[in-house]
Amino acid sequence: MRAAVLHGFGDLRVEEVPDPQAGPGEVLIDVCCVQPSVTECMLIAGEPVALHRRLADALATGPVRFGGHEFCGVVRAVGPGVRRCRPGDRVTAVETLVCGDCAACRNDRTDACVRPEFIGFTRPGALAERLVVPETAVVPVPPGVSAAAAAAIQPLAGALHAHALAAVAPGETVLVLGAGVMGLLAIQVARRGNAGLVAVSGRSPAKLALARRFGADLVIDATAAGADAADQVLAAVHDATGGIGADVVIETAGGSPRLGLSGPDTLELAARCARRGGRVVGVSVLPDDVPASLGLLRERSVSLLHPRSGAGGYSPSGSVFAHALRLVARGDVEVEPLITHRSTGIEAIPEAVRVTRDKAAHGAINPVQVRLDVDWGQP
Ligand SMILES: [Zn+2]
Repeated sequence: MRAAVLHGFGDLRVEEVPDPQAGPGEVLIDVCCVQPSVTECMLIAGEPVALHRRLADALATGPVRFGGHEFCGVVRAVGPGVRRCRPGDRVTAVETLVCGDCAACRNDRTDACVRPEFIGFTRPGALAERLVVPETAVVPVPPGVSAAAAAAIQPLAGALHAHALAAVAPGETVLVLGAGVMGLLAIQVARRGNAGLVAVSGRSPAKLALARRFGADLVIDATAAGADAADQVLAAVHDATGGIGADVVIETAGGSPRLGLSGPDTLELAARCARRGGRVVGVSVLPDDVPASLGLLRERSVSLLHPRSGAGGYSPSGSVFAHALRLVARGDVEVEPLITHRSTGIEAIPEAVRVTRDKAAHGAINPVQVRLDVDWGQP
């Protein structure tokens, strides 16, 4: 079969590789649709985030199959002992595979597993025509969910997990910083999950228009230069909350300005926008050396929460994936409007990676999706 192979940082090539086989307890899947995650694209480019060191060590010994944990496909074959999957099933999979055997796993704390595997990181992923995953990672895709939406389900699972972590009580104000993929999903989840006033800040007119369409009550245009943008957001939040601040702030805006993100100061803005005793959920991936506003958080008794995330962290569990798929099937959450860039054929993967790494410059919201020639059986 053909698959993307990383020959060195920035050198991703599509080439012939051995066909994978399903071993005991494993499922062989024909990839129907795949999208590179932004973190994967950064790692492929050689940026020092997440599992960079591990990838650099692997590349030192030769080419590496890397990337492709956000995907959907159709089961082609199952290995001995597989009971819940059959050929022809439409499926996706959770990224993190826990060992099931360490002290954490044996004590029902699989999120703290000491020997996790990650699809597309520690084992070959879906930047390929086929991949093999353990049956335990497989999540069935219900009828009514398109291949495009199924391949984009992991970020929604992340948004659901972030919302659950914040334990939003009925009527509480939720402020979402940033109107990218995670922000636009967080708005929809908040609307479906107890929130009272839902506010969002962002800069792109197209994304802010989507935020309105998805039901944000207050849309804050944060296009002022530098620190003034933060003051703009804070003033609007105080206006809307009688000077108290938001009960919950979902921070999705931070990161490198070179990639169209809002820099390292978003955590401080989140802390300033939260009410006394409020919660900040840090969704964005900030550099390791970003200064944390610990004094501000402490002084205002604001909790800083970190949800599980994909891309080498711990992804939400299969049950959260299943719920995310259910929300899409019911039409409660819209994913498709976020998918701005689509391409076809396995040869398109390196270009999809290049564009996804620099989404803002290309006007992309979701990562670029690549559709392969596999019959999904429905629109
Ligand atoms: Zn374990």
